[in-house]
Amino acid sequence: MSLPGSNCSAGRWLATNALASQVTLARRIPSIGMQCEICGATEESDIHALLLCPLATKVWVGSEIEDVLWDDNVTTPMDALLQASKVLSLDRLGEYVAVLWECWNLRNRFIFEKKVDNGDALASRAVAFVLNFRRMRDEESPVPQSTDASCWRPPSLGIFKLNFDAGKVGQNVREWGFVVRDHMGEAVLACVTQAEGFISPKA
Ligand SMILES: [Zn+2]
Repeated sequence: MSLPGSNCSAGRWLATNALASQVTLARRIPSIGMQCEICGATEESDIHALLLCPLATKVWVGSEIEDVLWDDNVTTPMDALLQASKVLSLDRLGEYVAVLWECWNLRNRFIFEKKVDNGDALASRAVAFVLNFRRMRDEESPVPQSTDASCWRPPSLGIFKLNFDAGKVGQNVREWGFVVRDHMGEAVLACVTQAEGFISPKA
């Protein structure tokens, strides 16, 4: 799969309905409302946040993704991914997931940080990110097959290796992430995220 690691992670989140949209939160915590905080729609479902909300639409307008993907029968992110996988090439599908993820990040920045980005430019930024990742991957030398135990080595065929780390950024931000790689050393799943607040490790 030619997706950047973080976008593999994005695709997995989308496919498993793991997004914390208002509808998803309201199902778990009844006191939370389902309304979209951006446009006022009655229900902010995952698909609303990613494809239908006017904020997301601003991103998609600049994406040049095929119009055929906007179908009334698409009601979940999994539907959207399946439909896209039938229409788009694998490379283009990677760009589609990147734009979906950009819509979700834009929604979060708007709600939690009160930031209003230029949505028109975000789709091209997401696509450029995917293209740059591919170029860097293609230019990378193969993973060294070192016998030194201190060097990272890919796992055996059929086994995946997980590496993770966490740390402090600045005075009050925590960052953590992980990467899962296959026997070729290729990242198949990865995620990096940051949040405010920092708690010192306890002994
Ligand atoms: Zn909305």
